[in-house]
Amino acid sequence: MEELHSEAQQPEPEPAPKIIGLTGGIGSGKTTVAHFIEEFGFPVYYSDDRAKTIVNDSEELKIKIKDLLGDASYDENGRYDRKYVADKVFNNRELLQQLNEIIHPAVRIDFENWVKKQTKYLVFKETALLFELKLNRQCYKSLLVTAEDNIRIKRVMDRDDKTYREVQSVMEKQMPEKDKIKIADCIIYNNTNLEELKEQTEKVVFSIE
Ligand code: ATP
Repeated sequence: MEELHSEAQQPEPEPAPKIIGLTGGIGSGKTTVAHFIEEFGFPVYYSDDRAKTIVNDSEELKIKIKDLLGDASYDENGRYDRKYVADKVFNNRELLQQLNEIIHPAVRIDFENWVKKQTKYLVFKETALLFELKLNRQCYKSLLVTAEDNIRIKRVMDRDDKTYREVQSVMEKQMPEKDKIKIADCIIYNNTNLEELKEQTEKVVFSIE
């Protein structure tokens, strides 16, 4: 009898949160959207930021990256040298893939641990390469932020003090927008101002069931 009573007292386990993959090409506005999403009270995991932390914190990754790209991948203070690494892999697909094969599994584990700590029914994973790495398959839904090429280039030129050509060459290496639009479950078109972007974000986020 007592056993039955204690069973009845057991709380229902919380369902795992639904994971929404948030993505967009260079300058699309995905980070801006991610900040709005946080303002609406939902947690966001920033994959690229976490990756930057992990490459500095994990001794195992340090060894593997130095083996692949050389000791100069880390500076004299032992900090990851992003510029050096980016230059090394920029025009070398094979090296880039090998680097990704080192970093991505570590980020995946870090993300899984982060999700376990979340209590909201929706969580967002901001990842530039959501579709390229087929990470959308591990998400409940994908949310794409997109804008016209010229607008994106102009915004990045203003933000990063880069030339038109520099931004364009990064863009050309990314998956074409038309292909992303075909795959995405939800799309935010970011061609106007920040107020409209926030409104669209609110509508999309609260319509996800
Ligand atoms: P990246 O992949 O290059 O990091 P991103 O997709 O995260 O880019 P953001 O950094 O969010 O893009 O936006 C690019 C720049 O454009 C930022 O300076 C941001 O403040 C600005 N921006 C984004 N959306 C708008 C908008 N609707 N109106 C004006 N400025 C905007």
